[in-house]
Order: sequence, then structure tokens, then C-alpha cells
Amino acid sequence: MKKTLSLLAFISFSILFAQQKINLNYYLPQDITYNSNIPTPESVLGFQVGKWHTSHDKLVQYMYALADASDRITIENRGKTYEDRPLLLLTITSPKNHQNIESIRTEHLKLSDATLSSSLTIDTMPLVIYQGFSIHGNEASGANAGLLVAYYLAAAEGDYINELLDTTIILFDPSYNPDGLNRFASWVNTHKNQNLTTNNADREYNEAWPRGRTNHYWFDMNRDWLVSQLPESQARIKSFHQWKPNILTDHHEMGTNSTFFFQPGIPSRTHPLTPKLNQELTGKIGKFHAKALDKIGSLYYTEESFDDFYYGKGSTFPDINGGIGILFEQASTRGHTQQSDNGILTFPFAIRNQFTAALSTQKAGKNMRTELLTYQRNFYKNAQREVSKDRKQAIIFGDAADRTKTYQFAAMLKRQNITFNKLKTTVKTNGNSFSPDHSYIIPANQPNYRMLKAMFEKRTTFKDSLFYDVSAWTLPLAFDMNYGYVANTTAVGDAITSPTPPEGKVASQSNYAYLFEWDDYNSPNTLYKILNSRLRAKVAMKPFSLNGKNYDYGTIMVPAQNQKIAADKVYELLTKVAKKTGVNIDAANTGLTKGIDLGSSNFRILKKPTIAVLVGDGITSYDAGEIWHLLDTRYDIPVTKLDTRNLSSANLSKYSVIIIPNANGSALNKAKENLKTFAENGGTLIGYRNSLKWLNTNKFIKLNFKKQKPKTKNIPFDQRQDFRGAQVIGGAIFEATIDRSHPINFGYNNTKIALFRNTTVFVKTDSVTNYKAPIQYTKNPLLSGYISKENLKAMSGTIPFKTAKLGKGKVIVFTDNTNFRAFWYGTNKLMMNAIFFGKMM
Ligand SMILES: [Zn+2]
Repeated sequence: MKKTLSLLAFISFSILFAQQKINLNYYLPQDITYNSNIPTPESVLGFQVGKWHTSHDKLVQYMYALADASDRITIENRGKTYEDRPLLLLTITSPKNHQNIESIRTEHLKLSDATLSSSLTIDTMPLVIYQGFSIHGNEASGANAGLLVAYYLAAAEGDYINELLDTTIILFDPSYNPDGLNRFASWVNTHKNQNLTTNNADREYNEAWPRGRTNHYWFDMNRDWLVSQLPESQARIKSFHQWKPNILTDHHEMGTNSTFFFQPGIPSRTHPLTPKLNQELTGKIGKFHAKALDKIGSLYYTEESFDDFYYGKGSTFPDINGGIGILFEQASTRGHTQQSDNGILTFPFAIRNQFTAALSTQKAGKNMRTELLTYQRNFYKNAQREVSKDRKQAIIFGDAADRTKTYQFAAMLKRQNITFNKLKTTVKTNGNSFSPDHSYIIPANQPNYRMLKAMFEKRTTFKDSLFYDVSAWTLPLAFDMNYGYVANTTAVGDAITSPTPPEGKVASQSNYAYLFEWDDYNSPNTLYKILNSRLRAKVAMKPFSLNGKNYDYGTIMVPAQNQKIAADKVYELLTKVAKKTGVNIDAANTGLTKGIDLGSSNFRILKKPTIAVLVGDGITSYDAGEIWHLLDTRYDIPVTKLDTRNLSSANLSKYSVIIIPNANGSALNKAKENLKTFAENGGTLIGYRNSLKWLNTNKFIKLNFKKQKPKTKNIPFDQRQDFRGAQVIGGAIFEATIDRSHPINFGYNNTKIALFRNTTVFVKTDSVTNYKAPIQYTKNPLLSGYISKENLKAMSGTIPFKTAKLGKGKVIVFTDNTNFRAFWYGTNKLMMNAIFFGKMM
């Protein structure tokens, strides 16, 4: 019966829509009045919500218009996206609360500090709700509904709204992903027909690569909440910690033939650090959504998909911060109207469901206010109790040889309000010696203890073998960061208020040569800047020592003489470079060393790389975007994005390095000869993950794949997907040993490395070669995360890296993504080594 009603609603509405008669009444509660001094969305946008996809610029215009007209709203711009779009936040509450907003905020924050929260009077405290929309830009019904939610909060009149605004502070984030939202709006509006077509074959519903889901550099921003590497996340996380909301909502879209989903997700996949009560409260909030959706006849479901495991997602991140995160997923029209299993699905219908869920969230918050405030207080009180039982009272981290990476790690902790201190004395733990100059200590006894735990823990046992996303993210492993635990806090020194990026300098002027080691994260951009200034530089293939200092494999040497510029200008230039990158450069006044002398043929000449990365159909946009972002924003190295569409006829002789991110080989078939010629003529071709299969089939490199087929027996029909899913490596962390003398490993100081992996491409070692594999998985390589027994067995001893000659050039392959989601700092250097030293491998 419910289904029939909702189908009728679809059909009658689609007729209404075709006649372009959408009006506000369709969306808004009709049992109240609205303040006519508040501008409606239509009065600012020039069209009714749902007729077009609102561009981000118009959305911004409307939010400012509302803030201007309403004393319930203040607005702030917290920063900019990569495309310079503002990152807005509206604070919406009663005018009376606005007058005391700062004291309300500081009182609220005390709930998350067990040492201050006991004396708080929860009865009179407002609840904090953070509502945000469309972090996936092409899931636009959320952000378009947001226009209506903001209007409703500004214009609605009567007792209910007055009480709601008195008892809640609504932090309103109208667009989590402005660049993606705008990219998608342009696409669907560009292709919209006046006579709407419901046929999903229409170009309107088939976005071109890379589509609008991601941000400017093609990152899925709903994986960045914990590691906060992107500007959009950084602004948002700052607001989050300024307020510590009790509820945070995240409005998404899913497949067109689905209905509407709200959390709880699959119960068995909840992260064990999340309290059970969190999920119970999520369920209780869910009853408010159910009731509201019942009322408008919309179908929905809960608990059967999605999960609360990875804290990097918007709906899970609050769960480790004393709040309740809630995911909404609406069936997507991916445009203006589409035929679906549930009848004709219109954009306004999708918007109305999101709007309805946004209002039911507010209602739940209002009704459950004291319960949610109490939950938050207890969350932090219980965490404090756990700390006292923890034998690991502090964590020490730092890498003396890599100041940039240590700084980046510290900055990430700071963004999440993790407090850490200077180290008072040298401490030895976990096989490392940590010196006060280059290390920090994190006391476990702090309000964010649980989040700290979630960042550092290694986990290898799980209740469920299926994951919506990665199963591990252990951050010190991702950063290849030296760290260790201590059982007391005696080494805790002064607090660090804000970590500062390292300053680099040239030790002194030399008339002979300059040297810097390859250990720092910023060594590659230091080298690039030098080569780009047309200076000659060489790399040491062996270690040596000079003036009592040991220089490792991969040390860069820049001669002072016989350069294109005079020796004093070389000094000036290097000083500028060092200042910019933070890398220290030494001066050498003699070529005579212990070990290889500076004039030795074991110093190999380096050439400035000219890099292209393949993008477009057949390439995974995330992987391509990670490479683009790394080179463009971290390393300041120009990169050409070559579209697979034009690859067969592209002039590849312009490049010295071409990178193939994860690829579906068939898109490369036409360009096979062109790519082969490129390598045979001396180019370096770097391939990742599934592109290895194509490179092997087409004889670029010979790879011996190890196959593993799990035995299926007696699997019931309804569990067949779970069985297959359990064989997927969704994302886990594995250990490999490295040969430090091989150029692929230059800059790494330990003989072991942690690698992130999300494929089941296993490559066997070569029995014909007598050389040690430069990188090889250990016998039992799992460090953190989920992998099936069968896969773990297959993976044991395989190699994640291989290189081969092809004509005058090189083919270099990685089975794993070394650039995952911008936070795998630890393996970024592997790709940079392939780029700079590929010729020497
Ligand atoms: Zn989504």
C-alpha cells in the first residue's frame, strides 16, 4: 500500500514537474506561516529549486541574501577551495542565542573535557547540530535541498521553530564540495532538455570523465575527515572542533533504482572504538526520519548497507568525537528526471526527501537534546577512565632525517586538536632513539584520547570480513614515521601550540660542491628546482662520509664550478631553494671523501624530468588525481595530463616520464605502439596496479602473476556476495623488506617499509635473476587491516615493484598505490625515485 501511494506521488508529481509548476508548497511544511521579509530561493536564483541544478555561485549568493535578511543567521567564509570558491558556514539559532554565541560555544566545549564537564547544567544547554550537503558534487539533491532548509530556518514562524532555535545551534554547511558541485551543475544544466527526457541513455545522465563526485584534484573528500589533507576538509574540521557537534549529517545520493537510506548502517561493521550507545542513539534518531518519510509516502531502508567503520567518512568521524554522525543516501536522478524501478524519479522528489530528513534531524535533536548532551559528556568521561588503565601513557614520534614529514604529521594531529609536547630527554623505544630536537611526545591523557587511538592503532582481527571502505589507516605507518609507546609521561616537555614548518639553509658558501641527502620529504622538489634552474646535479649510488658526516645512498651533489652561472650565484640560488623547501644543504670544500669521491663515476648525472600522467576514460580518476596533486601542489613540478582519447596520436617524445595510474587496459590498446615507441626511445614508463596486466599482456614487461582462487563450497545463495566480498582487499597495510642500495629505495632509512594495497595483483619473484628483489613482501606481511587467509597466503613473498629495460628506456611497475589519498606520505618517495632515478635502475 505504501509503495502504491509513493508511486502515485511520483507520477502525479512528474506531470506537475513537466508543466514547470513546482512551487515552494511542494517542499515546505504547510501548517505554518513564513516571514515574507525573507527572500525565497526563487527570488534570488531566478528559478524554483529543482528546476535547474544550482551552481555554487548562486548558492553562495542566496546564503548571503538569507544572512542579510535574517537575525537568526550569521555567515562566515572559512577559506577557499582549490578553485577559489568560498567555504561558507552559517550559524543558525535564535537571535537571543546569537547574542551569547561565544559563551554558549565555550560552555558546550566543556562537555568534551572530563575535567570540566561535571558542573555543567545540561538542562539549559542548546544542542549543536552540524548539517552539511553533497560532499560528492554529483549527488546534488542534498545541496539543492539545503537552499530550502536554510530558507525554512530563516522564514518559518510559530512556536515549533522558535523552540527549535532556542534549544539548538545549527551549523549549516551548504556545500561540502563547491568545486565538484559546480562541475556537476554545469554538466547537467548544459544537457537539460526543455521536454525532460527520462531515458538514462541521454547525455545529461552520463557525465564525462572525471565526473563531479570529487574535488578539483579528483579526491573523494568523504575519505579525508580524519587525515584532513585537503583545504575543504581543513576548514570543516576546524569548525567541527570549535563546536564538537552532537549530531552531524552528511547528505548523499546512491543508485537511481534504490530508495532512501538513513543510518544505522550494517551493525556488525561498526568500528569497535565506537560505543554501542552511539548506534542505539543513531537508531533512535532514525525513528524521526522514518516518521517524516512515512508521512510523505517515501520508501526507505536502514541497516542493510553502508557502515560506520572508517573514521575518515563524514558520518563516522563524529562517532569518535562524542557525537552522532548520520549518513543519508537518496536515489539519484543524476540530472533532472529519470525512469527508475520505483517509477519516474524527479530531481524535486529527491530534493524533498533530503529536505524532509534535514528537518527530521532537527526535530530529533530538539527532542533528544539532553540525552545527546549527556551522551557526549559521558563519552569523554569514559574515555578518561580508559586512559588511566592504558599502559601506553604516551606516544613518541619523529624522524630526524625527515623534518618535513615530521612537521606534516604534527600539523595533521594539530588539526584534529590532538595535543602534543616537546620531548624533554632522549628516549629509546621500539628500536628507535628519539631526540628532543626532532621528536614530539603525545600524552594519552587528553580529551581526544579515543581519536588518538583510532589514528595509531594496528588492527588485524575483525567481526566482519566486508568493509564499505578501507579496513586500515594506521597513520604512523602511512607516514613511514618512527614512533613508539612509553609507559609514563616523564619525558613530556612544553606544549606545542602550533608546529612550524622546517627552515632550510645552505650551511656555507662553497667553491667546490654542495650536498644534500635524499631523506627529507621535500628532497625531490629541492632537486627539481635545482635542475629547473639548469644547474647540473648528480646522485650518489653509494654512501660516503665527509667532514665526519655520513651521506647515504641517493645523496645529491651540486658542483659549484662549471655551471651556467658563477659560483656565488649558485650559492644564492641554492639558498633560495633551501628556504622554500626546508631542506638543509651542506657545503663541501673538497672532493676527497671516505668512500666514493665527489668526482667518482658512482655519482650519476641527473636530468630534469618532463612528466605526463595519463587521464581520461579507462583511468581511475582518484589515482590520477593523487599523482596530479602530489606533483602539482606538494612538489611544484609541472605535469601534463594526457587524455587517453588522444594518446594514440600524441607526440610522446616531449616527455621523459609517462605515468599510467590504475587503468583498465582496453582504453590503452590503440596507444600501444605509441607508448612502446616512447619507452624504446629512452622514456621511462611507470605503471600502477591493474595497468600491470595490460603491460604484461602487451609485452612491455614480463610479469609472473600469482593467482589465487578461493575454494567455494556450500555457500548459500544469499551469502554469495559476502563470500566474494571477503576476497576483496578494500585497503590494508602490508610489510615489505627493502634493499636500500637500489635507487627505488633511496631516501629510506629502515630496511622495512609499510605499503598500502587495494588490489589482488600479486607478482612472483623472478627466479632467473640472481639479484635480491628491491622490494619484497615479508612472509607474513599483514601489518594492519583485513585480508582473507587465501589472499594473505598468496601475497607472502611476492613483489610490489619491478623494473625492466625496453629498448633504450625503462618500464617500472608498482602493484600498489604509493600515493593513496594524499596522506600516504611514507610511499610518495617511491614514485619520485622512479621519476628521477628510473634510468639508473
Ligand atoms: Zn556520496
